[in-house]
Amino acid sequence: MSDKHYLLEQAYQTNNLSKDEIINLLGNLTISDREVLYGYALKTKQFYYGDKVYLRGLIEFSNICRQDCLYCGIRASNVKVERYRLTPGEILGCCDKGYELGYRTFVLQSGEDLWYTEEVLIALLQEIKKRYPEVAITLSIGERSAETYQNLFDSGADRFLMRHETASKELYETLHPTMRFEDRRACLSTLKEIGYQVGAGFMVGLPGQTLADLAEDLRYLKELRPDMIGIGPFIPHSETPLGTEKGGTLEDTLVMVALARLLVPESLIPATTALGTLHSQGRELALKAGANVVMPIITPTSVRKKYALYENKICGDDKAEDCRYCIERRIHSAGFEVDLGRGDPSLYSDKIF
Ligand code: SAM
Repeated sequence: MSDKHYLLEQAYQTNNLSKDEIINLLGNLTISDREVLYGYALKTKQFYYGDKVYLRGLIEFSNICRQDCLYCGIRASNVKVERYRLTPGEILGCCDKGYELGYRTFVLQSGEDLWYTEEVLIALLQEIKKRYPEVAITLSIGERSAETYQNLFDSGADRFLMRHETASKELYETLHPTMRFEDRRACLSTLKEIGYQVGAGFMVGLPGQTLADLAEDLRYLKELRPDMIGIGPFIPHSETPLGTEKGGTLEDTLVMVALARLLVPESLIPATTALGTLHSQGRELALKAGANVVMPIITPTSVRKKYALYENKICGDDKAEDCRYCIERRIHSAGFEVDLGRGDPSLYSDKIF
């Protein structure tokens, strides 16, 4: 057995790897190493979740953003974006459609748009929960105060997605001129303390990102133990300062998905839209490398293309029902089963051999 295969077997058995071990693993991974890694990640996922893949209906409700992240197509400085904002009534219409299609989790995502005040969001959450008490609501709206997070939680929000983006303070601060590394981390800790199911995660292939930075991303996840982990390739957008940079690759992203599965084995890991954009089979390959969630878009077709975090994003012309059944076919073709339940984290906390 090669050194790398031995290390991977250890990681599979113990769900742990040190930073140095991760850096060592990531250097010159062969195809055979990757296959061994994906195999262990798949077995780990199956131990906790079987062949189930959870669906979440994604509503991208505003592309207005006060932040100016260097990589993001909807950054405040991009004057070429046609901005939109769905009204609470339109968001509820998306939930009605999503419920009809069978979704029992709605993910409400937007730029950092303060038009949606705490009061507006509270009324929206309460109405969704009144109509559909059994659904889980996930928010992904960026940074707010601890008090607002608490009040949103008390009004029915169950989960919160906030990628840490990169665990390197230096890289984070270069990429986020309007944000602070410590604030992002503090938000994640606060959300966890309040009782949200929390999702962290990062982009792969950011300009200047090193193997040590990626190892640090995985170690941070191991420490935080988030319920959900979103990992996607960085895809350049031409109307941003990083428009001419190289993006992340399919292989590198799959490796990170698989390692995240080994290190935080009971987490819910989406096969991201960005992976589906990079490669026609990107999401299926992610499911085979340890991912177990897909987030089909239910944003109205009229505004979908305007939520362009990166270019050539898939599903821009599709309707909610197209995405629902396309995803189902893809999940089956990859050999997995669709689960339309809320898809809460697995109750198992320790693997027993
Ligand atoms: N504003 C919220 C926040 O900051 O958490 C949610 C929306 S934000 C646009 C959602 C995610 O998109 C970010 O966490 C980031 O990782 C991802 N993203 C933005 N631009 C991207 C790009 N060019 N390539 C890949 N992912 C990107």
